[in-house]
Amino acid sequence: AVIAVTKETRANETRVAATPETVKKLGAAGFSVVVQAGAGTAASYPDADYEAAGAKIAKTAKDAIKDADVLFKVRAPEAAEIAALKSGAIVAAALNPYQDKETLDALAKAGATAIAMEFIPRITRAQVMDMLSSQANLAGYRAVIEGAEAYGKALPMMMTAAGTVAAAKVFIMGVGVAGLQAIATARRLGAVVTATDVRPATKEQVESLGAKFLAVEDEEFKNAQTAGGYAKEMSKEYQAKQAELVSSHIAKQDIVITTALIPGRPAPKLVSAAQVASMRAGSILVDLAIEQGGNVEGAKLNETVLTPNGVKILGHANLPGRIATDASALYARNLVALSALFTNKEGVFAPDFEDEILKAAVVTLGGAIVHPNLKTA
Ligand code: NAD
Repeated sequence: AVIAVTKETRANETRVAATPETVKKLGAAGFSVVVQAGAGTAASYPDADYEAAGAKIAKTAKDAIKDADVLFKVRAPEAAEIAALKSGAIVAAALNPYQDKETLDALAKAGATAIAMEFIPRITRAQVMDMLSSQANLAGYRAVIEGAEAYGKALPMMMTAAGTVAAAKVFIMGVGVAGLQAIATARRLGAVVTATDVRPATKEQVESLGAKFLAVEDEEFKNAQTAGGYAKEMSKEYQAKQAELVSSHIAKQDIVITTALIPGRPAPKLVSAAQVASMRAGSILVDLAIEQGGNVEGAKLNETVLTPNGVKILGHANLPGRIATDASALYARNLVALSALFTNKEGVFAPDFEDEILKAAVVTLGGAIVHPNLKTA
């Protein structure tokens, strides 16, 4: 079977869905890989390296796609790519299924079998395919780097002949995959780190990384984790208590990194304009939830907002795209793991859409949107 990889077309997308390493692995598994010329350029993977790994280079996206059984992408394909698909071809990408209904409709109409990589279930067997984790991990790292870069002071304590530089105080709000990596990264840079979350399981994780945990630990908190491991949307009452608890804390922080998300819902507002106004000049907020509406009041997508009191709010979209070489490498490996589900024991291309992983992640099949979370009543 043929796997195509095309150049990303969405704004600010620097990643690519295959690397020379994964081309080799896919080849060893029996796939032929066609890569569009220039697909890896923005992530520092030259065409020649793909070719050396066994890929065919196609001039255009259409050339790459027209004979492919599978299309791998980072983001959803655009209309022209969808039009070039063979009927029944598999498309695997981060399809943003809750927000981009238009693309789902187009994929269904084209008869494509679309896999939303965001829907890969969080079960042990699927961990190797879990792009939300592979990308969130790098986003958490990068958020600290961006915050440190924008901050006019040092993160570690430094004792010099000219006097002492104090360690920066970093506060991480939301301790999922991204938040945990942000804690670890800020600690490595020598900051004094605190963190908060609504899921009780995070307390021990925060403390094991050498950071201090801060949260309203009431009855609602004790039940805030869903069976799937995600956070529930908290009540107005809880949010008010949480805001009160963190208010005085936020005022003393140098860098605040917010990562809080609730699947299929807008991001919870965790930092109010008044809290931002309480921070010292030069302090930094990094809002990782900006693409889901943001955790910080006043944050703007793809902008750095400078508030009247001299605080900067960073609203970069796509932080993994700012570490594109590694982000592509990990995502491309997620796709190699996924591709193993496309062949049967005899090594023949025969995707089993009854497999629990594919069942959870396939959003269009046989001309229709089939995922229960996406069907409109
Ligand atoms: P996420 O991106 O959905 O959310 C980020 C964090 O924000 C979560 O920790 C969440 O609890 C927190 N949050 C939500 N509302 C909040 C609020 N009002 N205040 C403070 N924090 C709030 O989460 P994620 O990174 O995808 O991780 C979710 C869970 O899935 C975690 O338990 C993680 O360890 C688990 N996980 C499991 C697997 C696996 O088993 N294969 C893989 C990845 C993640």
